Amino acid sequence: MSSNGAQDELLMIPGPVAVSPAVLEAYSTPPPGHLTPRVIEAHGSALERMRAVWCAGADSQPFVVPGSGTIAMEMAVTNLVEAGTRVLVVDTGYFSVRMAEMLRRRGAQLEVVGAPAFGETVAAEEVARALDAAPYAAVFATHVDTSTGVRVDAEGIARAAAARGVLSVFDGVCATGGERFEQEAWGADVYLTSSQKALGLPAGLALMVVSPRALAAREALSSAPPMSLDWLQWLPIMRAYEARGGAYFSTPATNLVMALDVSLGELLASECNGQRGIAARFELHVRAARAMREAFAALGLSLVPTAPGHMANTLSAVRYPDGTDAGLVKRMAAHRVLVAGGLAPGHQGTYFRVGHMGWTVTQPALLLRTLEALEEALAQGGHRGFERGAGVAAARVQLS
Ligand SMILES: *Cc1c(COP(=O)(O)O)cnc(C)c1O
Repeated sequence: MSSNGAQDELLMIPGPVAVSPAVLEAYSTPPPGHLTPRVIEAHGSALERMRAVWCAGADSQPFVVPGSGTIAMEMAVTNLVEAGTRVLVVDTGYFSVRMAEMLRRRGAQLEVVGAPAFGETVAAEEVARALDAAPYAAVFATHVDTSTGVRVDAEGIARAAAARGVLSVFDGVCATGGERFEQEAWGADVYLTSSQKALGLPAGLALMVVSPRALAAREALSSAPPMSLDWLQWLPIMRAYEARGGAYFSTPATNLVMALDVSLGELLASECNGQRGIAARFELHVRAARAMREAFAALGLSLVPTAPGHMANTLSAVRYPDGTDAGLVKRMAAHRVLVAGGLAPGHQGTYFRVGHMGWTVTQPALLLRTLEALEEALAQGGHRGFERGAGVAAARVQLS
């Protein structure tokens, strides 16, 4: 077995994802205390690196707390919204529906602008029109919807909101670190994620970067959020760590914070086509997604997103070909490559999802191994409508 034994089984679901050897090593240390110098240094450094990965302004505030993507969503909701706050939700699927439900529970007055059909996105112009039709405090959108592989035009939505003095919040759980996002340039207010997706870490952290405008909106709330989610509760802790001091409110996930600093360092050291840094990391995801899409096309498989312009670079939602069903996912698992079934209500049984985000996009061999397993599984299921090796060959062209 390799030193990274878990990776003998290749995890290609849309999170959690396979992690790099350096991340695994940083994580696999006897649990350090939250005030030990190496944790203080890693925590401070990780906060600084978050601004770079998020392309966020020097005056923005990063938060890292123990939790999940759902907890990060809840943190954004409860710090910006209270009973009666008017918000617009851009609905592109499963996780937008979750966001809307959280907003309702918090008492928000909610309008939803939804994708016209399964696999479609919501155009930024449509969001702008909705923002013009009524006054809103904030707009909430899912950067990449993990249930469909549909991406929204985050730049268009953020700019439309900023131009109208409306706060914009993006659920980047399946995107941050994998899809281009320029928080400062676009004027986006909150960009949130969790550790186990495109940042390439084990699950367990909720992360976000918050603009000064959004922090001011929290300060103006008349009802405080739950204490464990309150930005103002965590703010002195984040500031203390960034100043390379320790502070305590609630115990940080120390092993994960050590690994986070390493992971963000890897993201910022990415290289692709002569580019370096986070732009190169985004480009690596573009390249991986292109390779996978070329392979699916060569195998005669079609995707759930209806047009290339809104296909995510972090995962692919692929329709089962005629005569094939969810048994395909099981047969791939028998080849030790794990992909996920469909997640969209009413469509689960019609497609599967392959994650290509985080460290795996830097490893062409792993992408090719996934496609080999797919071809094997298709053939074993009796699917004859493709030429063996065509998918792998098409991807190899893109990855070389
Ligand atoms: C995975 C995901 C979530 C939920 O994250 P958890 O860590 O499972 O709570 C939320 N939003 C999006 C877009 C996701 O992909």
